[in-house]
Amino acid sequence: MAILLDGKKAALGIKEEIKKDVLLLKEKGKGVPVLACISVGADPASCVYIKSQSLAARELGIGYSLISLKEDITQEDLIAEVARLNTDKGVHAIIIQSPLPKNVNVEEVSSCILPSKDAEGMHPENLGRLLLGQGSIAPCTAAACMELLRRYKIKLYGKEVVIVGHSNIVGKPLSMMMLRGFATTTVCHIATSEAHQLESHVRRAEILIVAVGKPGLIKGDWIEEGAVVLDVGINRAEGRIVGDVEFDAASKKAAYITPVPGGVGPLTVTMLMHNTLRLFEGYLVS
Ligand code: NAD
Repeated sequence: MAILLDGKKAALGIKEEIKKDVLLLKEKGKGVPVLACISVGADPASCVYIKSQSLAARELGIGYSLISLKEDITQEDLIAEVARLNTDKGVHAIIIQSPLPKNVNVEEVSSCILPSKDAEGMHPENLGRLLLGQGSIAPCTAAACMELLRRYKIKLYGKEVVIVGHSNIVGKPLSMMMLRGFATTTVCHIATSEAHQLESHVRRAEILIVAVGKPGLIKGDWIEEGAVVLDVGINRAEGRIVGDVEFDAASKKAAYITPVPGGVGPLTVTMLMHNTLRLFEGYLVS
């Protein structure tokens, strides 16, 4: 049976490190990092994420400011709010909580956040740096996957890594991070499935990361004996939360596997706090 990659346990370790660093800066009189979250409307899933952000910030000694805006806000007014936070010296990191209303172009608004305050690592400049192997700010979920592998001492060098899903927040940045670790990296997506090639790629994977959002997409018997499986998917099915991989069958073949929930998820909000601290450190030396 596979060893569980325990995201909650890994998050505890990172949180301890962040807490210690924040306290040290405070004791030196440098102040504390402050994360501002812009939320539009009252999407139930967003409310859950916002709550977990504010709890994590409080636990780590990071300041947290929630800016709740009405559903009918215009893109212009939202950009004006971002501009206000960009110039606020008391705010060191900004996140715009998804989803945004349909009349708003998420990418246009997100790219208005100063790269030096970009808590999610989604600004084109930060993504460009990631591509070049520079900088310390990466999209939180991709960074969470890397951190989980690092904490369990899973080596990347020369490994066959297969990523399923090529979104801007997970698959694409993760592929850059894998290349930085000298993994041989394959990225699959909807067209891979349509070409009936998904199974053959998955079967080759020594490290498999799946971020699609379709329960049971990856069959347990496709998993290579001894593979490492990270399931990023979060799906509600039959009244519970499941990933994209058939967990029970996959656990019989994999050496390591993430549970869902309790795998990558708990690390994502921790990496948001990690980014907030790194941005604050950047502000202190600017
Ligand atoms: P997305 O919806 O932006 O993109 C989905 C990707 O899956 C695309 O690359 C698409 O081409 C691919 N895809 C769709 N159907 C496919 C198929 N049949 N075969 C192969 N590929 C297919 O994805 P996202 O925003 O990265 O989210 C993916 C999943 O990860 C969702 O379940 C989401 O809830 C979850 N997620 C979890 C966390 C976390 O913290 N654990 C964070 C972000 C997203």
